[in-house]
Amino acid sequence: MHQHVQRRTRPPVRQTVRPAVRGAVAAGLALGLLGTAATVVPATALPVAAQPASAADCQLPAAVDGLGSGFPVDEQALPAVGTLKAAQLFVDFEDHPAPAGSFDEAEANLASGIEYLERVSGGRLEVTTTTSDGWVRMPEPSTAYPFERGLTYEDHVRYIGDAIAAADDTFDFSDVDVVWVSATKQAPNITYSPTTNFLDVTADGNHLTHAVTFGYDQWRWGGLVLAHETGHSLGLPDLYLFEAPPEDPGNWHAAAGGWDLMGLISGQAPEYLAWHRWQLGWLDDEQVVCAVPERATRARLSPVAESGDPHPGRDRMLVYPVSATRAVVVENRQAIGYDRDIAASGALVYTVDTSVSSGEGPVRVIDSTPGSADGLDDAPFAPGTSWTEPTTGAVLTFHKAPAHMLTVSLTP
Ligand SMILES: [Zn+2]
Repeated sequence: MHQHVQRRTRPPVRQTVRPAVRGAVAAGLALGLLGTAATVVPATALPVAAQPASAADCQLPAAVDGLGSGFPVDEQALPAVGTLKAAQLFVDFEDHPAPAGSFDEAEANLASGIEYLERVSGGRLEVTTTTSDGWVRMPEPSTAYPFERGLTYEDHVRYIGDAIAAADDTFDFSDVDVVWVSATKQAPNITYSPTTNFLDVTADGNHLTHAVTFGYDQWRWGGLVLAHETGHSLGLPDLYLFEAPPEDPGNWHAAAGGWDLMGLISGQAPEYLAWHRWQLGWLDDEQVVCAVPERATRARLSPVAESGDPHPGRDRMLVYPVSATRAVVVENRQAIGYDRDIAASGALVYTVDTSVSSGEGPVRVIDSTPGSADGLDDAPFAPGTSWTEPTTGAVLTFHKAPAHMLTVSLTP
């Protein structure tokens, strides 16, 4: 359980209705399979000075329990490839009944999060929702659920369990992976949106384990809150800091800024990091260049926002392991897709540490302009610049390439 805090508020990047992507989903899945099974990567796609290591060598093993940045994702996570079947329950309360006509607004508010997941996964994740037939009246008043008074795991399970029980007469839970319970906007004391991967409620013979509450903060975050919370259902960690650093009090975003919506839902650059996509199976090993310390390595990186496009063989990130649990990652961020409003484009460099827990900074972005007024918003390295990895002395140099591409060279 966690709360989201932000320093600077920006509007959600997208507010669109869900597009007709079903055909693209099927096509994307087919291409993904073909990309691994039948496509020969052309030699020109990997312009390396020496053969890189196998991508598997860069899949740093998980070194924490629960949500984290290692491989594989937590065993309690739901599969991120295939179909995610969500029960979407909209609930109201005797002390806060939902007004007539408010159902469509509530449903529409979360739709952009579903669209995000399908787009960013390149269609590898398809989300199907079965929605309650109107508002489900909870058995207790909203004040019986202590969201404002230190909600415990037991409180949260009781809340979700009450919603399931109230809906069960008319709702079939027998083929559901995750339960989403969205409260009426009239109930501001259902304040925030926690996730649990340990629900432990059985309905219609189905042992339900995964659930998300969408509370009042969904009206501030917009639909991308659904993509953030589903990230947890799929095993991703929080990238914002549960405790701000002593030297930068109040800055809960000191580690990753707004470079992934697991760090800041309303951030300027809400595309999932390439590392997260790889963890989830949304990037193929063929799209990852794994560097080894003693060899020069080059990668020609396509923008992360295009990683769902079917371009087999195109590199999406360079990974340079510097210890058993720590790696430097370089990816290409451009002002396209959900990143369309970024303040600075270029090579985003960050470290991933699989021994660091969710909320403690498993990902830390390297700032190319430390001390600038924009914080980490202008962190990417511009073409023509370089950065020296402090523990190994390896130098990363960044070069511009046509059509939003970026070349990175690693010199040991
Ligand atoms: Zn979170």
